[in-house]
Amino acid sequence: MSNKTALITGANKGIGLAIAEGLGTRGFTVAVGARDDARREEAVERLRTNGINAFGVALDVTDDESVAAAAKTIEATTGRLDVLVNNAGISGAFDRQTPSTLDLDVIRTVLDTNVFGVIRVTNAMLPLLRRADSPRIVNMSSNMGSLALQTGPQLAAYAPSKTMLNSITAQYARELAGTNVIVNAACPGYVATDFTGFQGQRTPEQGAAIAIRLATLPDDGPRGGFFDDNGEVPW
Ligand code: NDP
Repeated sequence: MSNKTALITGANKGIGLAIAEGLGTRGFTVAVGARDDARREEAVERLRTNGINAFGVALDVTDDESVAAAAKTIEATTGRLDVLVNNAGISGAFDRQTPSTLDLDVIRTVLDTNVFGVIRVTNAMLPLLRRADSPRIVNMSSNMGSLALQTGPQLAAYAPSKTMLNSITAQYARELAGTNVIVNAACPGYVATDFTGFQGQRTPEQGAAIAIRLATLPDDGPRGGFFDDNGEVPW
């Protein structure tokens, strides 16, 4: 196995799979976090066919036991973790996100994956990340979560979930300021995946690029920021 290990959540398809391919091509051993057994194994096989060291990790980010078991699997396989990419995310039903009629169950479900899932996974993996020389955490956010860029009511569960994720990212970065763990948030742009009904104009590889860059930052790299391919995104 290669020296460094990266766990990507939601790595069975879309941007997550492209991040796994990108980091794998750069010599990382890739832990493919995915909740569905068949989809996970298919992704692992695809990565291995491309010459990448990959292993599957059963991981539902909304499930405490699944996340704890995933940390145990990684500890048993590699003993530590160099990179965590919190990529798994859901939008919630597009047609049920008008603020004045928002069903609390919709926003609860979105927050459970996009925010609580990130906290759950990060806290379970931090002990393994702390064993690495230059650990990096990347949280997949969206410019829809930017308060500065929001122009009107738009996906009233999804957009605030990414705003909160940005805030949580900054919180982790402040707590970890005196350590070697670097935490940042990324926006992939509008990407053609299942998530967007393949409407986005960017490819998953293009969407993955900023996460790969933040996952491989040097030790003096930025901390607690929000970035896309063009640089810093306003909060
Ligand atoms: P996809 O829908 O293609 O992939 C989402 C991935 O997340 C899938 O692997 C999915 O697994 C996984 N996932 C969802 N819920 C869970 C869960 N509870 N536990 C584990 N895995 C889960 O989306 P994208 O690749 O487009 O999006 C990836 C990230 O990028 C998301 O966080 C999204 O918010 C963000 N983003 C995407 C943009 C875009 O234009 N596509 C724009 C801005 C941000 P499964 O196959 O089992 O459902």
